[in-house]
Amino acid sequence: MDDQNLKELQNMSRSIRQWIIRSLAEAGSGHTGGSLGLSDVFTYLYFKVMKHRPNQPDWEGRDHLILSIGHVAPVFYSTLAHAGYFHLDELLTLRKLGSRLQGHPGKDHGLPGIELSSGSLGQGLSVGVGLAISKRINNNDTCVFVVMGDGELQEGSVWEAAMSASHHKLNRLIAIVDRNGLQIDGKTSDVMEIEPLKQKWESFGWKVLECDGNNFADLETAFDKAISNVVGPVVIIARTIMGKGIPSIENDYRWHGKVPSREQAIEFQKDLEDL
Ligand SMILES: [Mg+2]
Repeated sequence: MDDQNLKELQNMSRSIRQWIIRSLAEAGSGHTGGSLGLSDVFTYLYFKVMKHRPNQPDWEGRDHLILSIGHVAPVFYSTLAHAGYFHLDELLTLRKLGSRLQGHPGKDHGLPGIELSSGSLGQGLSVGVGLAISKRINNNDTCVFVVMGDGELQEGSVWEAAMSASHHKLNRLIAIVDRNGLQIDGKTSDVMEIEPLKQKWESFGWKVLECDGNNFADLETAFDKAISNVVGPVVIIARTIMGKGIPSIENDYRWHGKVPSREQAIEFQKDLEDL
């Protein structure tokens, strides 16, 4: 990745974060920490990795992105708007009555780019498995990306899906785990330990890649390896910082489901300018 390329990605992820803060402050509720932490992963996916056409969301040649961790909808919406699926101003309708941008993504609200209604954790990987099998049957060699939280891995259904994916050798299925070490009530290690995570996925037959999910060069290496893998399913364990970009809230689980006041939002925008 050259300097120019890196600069473009950094500017995009900064703008995606700025609009996350704007939309959440306007909504008065929602999920700030995980959305900020995943901004670089989403930027890299939608602007470097995925085959997609924002003006033709149902294009048959597209890769699918399943947002299993539905509560980080703000980063999903902000990325979709920046990619051109809808106008940026619509982000300010987040969580409003009648808006297409509900607190968790709803496929039947008409927002382009949403493949699945989500929010109930532990379900996305199963849908990803089904999609990947369906693509194989139809000789469609596009990819399925499933974004999951680390706390979400405490759901038993994730591991049924993981077992199924390796059984079917679904090499175009790529899971991304947002490994920020935190969940709604505290550290994942305190609530319910999920380590040793790499060994768990490997024992379920997956290829495991680990990277810094807030570093574009690292994301590039991980996604290049994941996409070129032809053997079976791949999981990228992306270490991220909850609240990334706003020092006063970074790594603080209490920002899982809290939003800035309008006054705080002004301060947060200044932090993002310096990022
Ligand atoms: Mg987490």
